[in-house]
Amino acid sequence: MKITRLETFGTPDLAFVRATTETGAQGWGQVSTYLADITTEVFHRQIAPHALGTDATDFADTLDLIQEREHKFPGSYLRRAMAGLDTALWDLNGKLQGKPVVELLGGTPGKLRAYASSMKRDITPADEAARFRRLRDEQGFTAFKWRVGRECGRDQDEWPGRTPEVVQTVSRALGDGIDKLVDANSCYSAPRAIELGHLLQDNGIGHFEEPCPYWDYDATARVRAALALDVTGGEQDCEYSSWQLMLDRRSVDILQPDVMYMGGIHRTLHVARMAAAAGLPVTPHAANLGLVTICTMHLLKALPNAGKYLEFSIEGADYYPWQQGLFRNDPYRIEDGHAIITAEPGWGVEIDPDWLARAAYRVSELA
Ligand SMILES: [Mg+2]
Repeated sequence: MKITRLETFGTPDLAFVRATTETGAQGWGQVSTYLADITTEVFHRQIAPHALGTDATDFADTLDLIQEREHKFPGSYLRRAMAGLDTALWDLNGKLQGKPVVELLGGTPGKLRAYASSMKRDITPADEAARFRRLRDEQGFTAFKWRVGRECGRDQDEWPGRTPEVVQTVSRALGDGIDKLVDANSCYSAPRAIELGHLLQDNGIGHFEEPCPYWDYDATARVRAALALDVTGGEQDCEYSSWQLMLDRRSVDILQPDVMYMGGIHRTLHVARMAAAAGLPVTPHAANLGLVTICTMHLLKALPNAGKYLEFSIEGADYYPWQQGLFRNDPYRIEDGHAIITAEPGWGVEIDPDWLARAAYRVSELA
């Protein structure tokens, strides 16, 4: 079943992809967020020309072939664009078979435990603790992640003293029986990360994400070797060779691929299998409520080596104005701290026609 048309509907922050076949079958996907207008250009110049005319129902090798045809362009943008093709075709195949993607992947729809993920560093420890308590009490979340250090911060704090204070204040506010995670977003040198790691352990925190610059696999490995808690990472990595290096160096306890940065579900599954072979779980990165978290829900519920929970962003319009009004149904309902994967075919989402009507449109078609 040949792919005959690939359309994009986008803003500078996010772009959806619609794939259409010769039979009129359609599926919706998304390229990765941020500078999505550049990624859309890559999609139409370097992805679509190779994908048009190929089989929409059997496309794993098409993704590899695209990489081979575009082998002078390794790295992020090609993968971000490739994710649009991959995720649209998973949706299309789900709709063809009348099944949710989770079933195509060998899992079943239903509830998936989520952790409430804060993206903010400009928030005071008291305010962070207050909103976490509210989310715990009102939505039943049983796991939370918050931010320490400064992003790629060279050992600096967001402001002096914030990190020790936010660690202790939020941990105390959440109390026992709640899983506690923190993310340093590449802030620390290994010695400083180890020092902070002991404070984290003393405060019952079990997950220390991206303690060191993420490209420094040896520094991260030193932190992992020195601490008992889980050292985690990988959200930016999109080439298999990077993951292999991370595994060879024993840098992390948990791998965190991002479905969209990786280039879609097929390539993320490959990383999940690499993790499984090393005996490690996968807790994917999913930091906004565009399509990435939906795709991650379907993937995670089907993975044999899935981590304990789904990353679920708690930020709203003040932080992510561009994620408002994307979907007509409410795919991100939380019940008792769980996200819900419905039995609707494909991704089970309906993109808002008003949003699409306002978006920049472009099409590549089979001649
Ligand atoms: Mg992170």
